[in-house]
This record gives sequence, structure tokens and C-alpha cells, in this order.
Amino acid sequence: KKDAKKDGALEDAKLIGITVDKAKDFPGWYQQILTKGEMLDYYDVSGCYILRPASYAIWETIQKWFDTRIKRLGVANTYFPMFVSNKVLEKEKDHIEGFAPEVAWVTKAGSSELDEPIAIRPTSETVMYPYFAKWIQSYRDLPLKLNQWNNVVRWEFKHPQPFLRTREFLWQEGHTAHLTSEEAQEEVMQILDFYAGVYEELLAVPVIKGKKTEHEKFAGGVFTTTCEGYIPQTGRGIQGATSHFLGQNFSKMFNFSVENPLGSEHPKLFAFQNSWGLSTRSIGVMVMIHSDNKGLVIPPRVSQFQAVIIPVGVTSKTSEEERTRINKTAKEIESRLLNSDIRATGDYRDNYNPGWKFANWELKGVPLRLEFGPKDLQQNQVTVVRRNDSKKIIVKLDDHLELNVQEILDVLQQDLYNAAKAKYDSHRVIVDEWNKFVPALNAKNVILSPWCGVEECEEDIKASSSRKDDGEEFEEDDKAPSMGAKSLCMPFEQPPLKLNQKCIKCEKKAVTYCMFGRSY
Ligand code: AMP
Ligand code: ZN
Repeated sequence: KKDAKKDGALEDAKLIGITVDKAKDFPGWYQQILTKGEMLDYYDVSGCYILRPASYAIWETIQKWFDTRIKRLGVANTYFPMFVSNKVLEKEKDHIEGFAPEVAWVTKAGSSELDEPIAIRPTSETVMYPYFAKWIQSYRDLPLKLNQWNNVVRWEFKHPQPFLRTREFLWQEGHTAHLTSEEAQEEVMQILDFYAGVYEELLAVPVIKGKKTEHEKFAGGVFTTTCEGYIPQTGRGIQGATSHFLGQNFSKMFNFSVENPLGSEHPKLFAFQNSWGLSTRSIGVMVMIHSDNKGLVIPPRVSQFQAVIIPVGVTSKTSEEERTRINKTAKEIESRLLNSDIRATGDYRDNYNPGWKFANWELKGVPLRLEFGPKDLQQNQVTVVRRNDSKKIIVKLDDHLELNVQEILDVLQQDLYNAAKAKYDSHRVIVDEWNKFVPALNAKNVILSPWCGVEECEEDIKASSSRKDDGEEFEEDDKAPSMGAKSLCMPFEQPPLKLNQKCIKCEKKAVTYCMFGRSY
């Protein structure tokens, strides 16, 4: 009879759980874990999504971590309007050319047409820089370092994907102006390290840092640095975050120059600028990498709740007194953890059985489940179960409880990172012969190849790798056409180039290793 009841509970659990296999239908699985895990909901404007508390909490943790670090660099937060006039938007030609197809316009107020349509920012270079020009009067006003935590709108026509590619997204955009090129470039790298830190330390997602090619760099900038992630199921790369050195392009366009510190007989100096951004895409990358067929798996450092305490083993035979003691002690454990800054919660609902609750919290991805029942009460212990691998650890309810739980969280965080790193490392392969390139792509790898650095060759690589010449259908998880390999970055950490090494695709001499891959 007891078993029948248990089976019933499992059936219930299955109903609320994930019905799609991550390995078989990755996009269907992604959609289910996000919605059933209560992270996100769909919205009736295509490409826009609702961030529910579980995902917004992650964003807040990222904000706090990054914000603290940029403030130490002297960056201050600010807020500029989301609207931008056409005149200002068009000021930097390359820049607007890059963004024009995705700009959303306000053309009406009520039923009357506006005299001049107003754009919604796709990014804020052109919004902010007229004011940089106004505020920077002397070299003493440099550096100017501003950041905003805001939303931007890019009306993209590529298949939208929750978090990864949305038409409105949250991000931070940093914009700074410096007297010297060196100082600006130093900051570009410092910010890129912070971005890698967000991914690796908070989200347990390994990334490769590098420089974008001319073709892939930010429109209007001098160079773009990036950290690139990898999604094992699809074998695709994904741009994690970018930090751009803009040089003097914008300061010349917007005419902000300062008197030369050497004296007024020397020419005026145009400021050197950077811009850098990290978006809510990062949450999607994290979800795709760690989660499984039971639902979300959220790394402890960013999870809204880190541990959920669930009373177990209470049956009709349990005495009222024992039941009360179990609940009371469970609540004591919860408050002890809360008091030592572990984000604990308890599930004491009596209209759900433990099996249902287990499945429900697994779906939400809470890193640790603390089961507390009659045996635990008797032994003065709690049974800790890790979300990622169901491993059980018995922890005594002594003075070390808080420290021990924290340590289990830390180890779990590291384990998630190590597992993701092992996958990325084993699917990042060096290929230096073209005939091995497409097969390596089809085996879900990103590829490091010797490359000549020429833009036409990069386009050729993309075109040649999108052909279905081996007769095999490329696995796709959206409606995009069979995709060629894009250049993801030229990693800062380079394998040594052989003497006279040729480019993977053409006859020219290779100048660098470049990382190529199908990508999001
Ligand atoms: P960008 O200004 O184009 O360099 O973008 C800055 C960062 O925002 C990129 O590194 C992406 O991670 C992210 N991003 C770009 N487009 C989107 C989008 N449509 N949805 C979510 N994140 C995006
Ligand atoms: Zn080449």
C-alpha cells in the first residue's frame, strides 16, 4: 500500500515535470525548463519575455558583483533617456549602418503622426556622446567613466530565443573617455576580465577570451574584445559579452576634444573611448549548460534559493509530538542558515507530499535539498541532496552546520564549472586541414584554425562550411538556414603557429589561430 502511494506521488511529480529530453529536443526542453522552472514566461509580443523572480534574482546578483568592481575603477552609474532623434543616431555612419535594420521607431502619439519619428536606443553611444562633448571641457575632466543598467531594443529578425536573443533586453552599458589610448585599452581588458569573472565565477560557465575579427567587431569601433561560451548540445559558440575600444571615431564625430596638457600651442586632443556591455543573455547560457531533464540546475552563487528544507517521513503513524518536533527543528535549520547568509527556504506545505515537493524544487534548480525526517531528528543530522547529481551527504546539526552547508555549496559550484569546462575543452579542437573542418563542425566542435586574417577568406570559410556537401542534415534548433561557421574570436591564448603555416582555407600565410564555430 505504501508503495502504491509512493508511485502516485511520482506520477504527480512527472506531470509537473519536464516531458522533453534535453538530448532529443533541445529547444523544446529549453522552453519547458524555463517556463516550468518559473524563470521566464512568454509574452504576446514576439521576441519579448517576462523575467520572473527566479531569473531576476540572478540578474541582481550579477549586477551587484559587476557594479562593485566597476565602481572601484571609478565608474559611476547614470541614466539617459531611451529615445534618440534620427539626427543624433545618424551621426556616426558605420555605427548606424550596423544597427539601422534593427532600430525600432516611435512614429505616432495617440492617433497623430509625430513630425519626426523617434528611435528607441539599440545602444547608447549616440545618446550619450553629445553630452560627453558638452561635459568634457578640459583634459582635467578626463577620464569620464559612466555606466547605465538599462534596457535596449533591437528589433532583430533572427529567430528569437529566451535570454539569448530578445528584442528588448536588460544589460549594462559602460561608456568611458580617456586622455590616452593606453589608458583606454587597459580598461577594455580589465572589463573583459570582469565579464569572464561573471561567467566563470558566478555562472560556472567557462569562456574563451579573445579579439573579434574586423568583420565581427562592433560597428564604429576600432577593435572588440569578447568572451565566448559554448553550448554542448548544439555544438555552437555564443558571444558572452563584449568590451570595445572605440578609439577616437566617436569623439571626432561628436567633436569632443580637450586642450593639450602640454600647452595651447599643441594640437587639441580627441578623447579615446570605450564601450562595453553584458546582457541577460548570460542567464540563458548558464541555463542551457547546467540544466537537465529534471529541470533547471542553478549554480549556488546566483541561485535565488540555495537550499530548501523539506520535512520527510511523516506518516499517519507519526505522533503529533514528533511531527511538531520535526517541523520545529526544520525551521530552526532554516533560520540558522539564513543567519549565516545562506539563502535557505523551507517547504512546510501539508497539501503536498515530499515526492511532489522534491520534483518541484528540482524543477526550479535549487542547488541543495535538505531532507529532515524522524531518523534525522533521532540522529541529530540533516540529509543534504545535491541537485546536480543527487549525491547525498549527511550533515550533523552541530556548531559546524552552517560552515558545512556552505562548503557543500562551494564544492557544487566548482563541480558545475569543472563539468562545463571539461565539455568545452574536449570540443575545442585544432584543425589545420580544410577537409577536416566541416566534419569537425558536424561533430559539435568549435574549431581553432590557422588563419590569414583576411576578411574575404573569413566569408569564404562561412560559405563553404554551410554547404550540405556531405549529404548530412545539420542539426538545427531554430528556423535559420543551415549555418556556416563564423569566426568567434582570435583567442588571446594562442597555440604556437608553425613556421610558414598556411591559412586553413586559402594559400596565404597564417597570422593567427582563429576560433570558428556555428553560433547563436
Ligand atoms: P553589442 O553591443 O552588440 O556588442 O552587444 C553587447 C552584448 O549584448 C553582447 O555581447 C551580447 O551578449 C548581448 N546581446 C546582443 N544582442 C542581444 C540580444 N538580442 N538579446 C540579448 N543579448 C544580446
Ligand atoms: Zn585565408
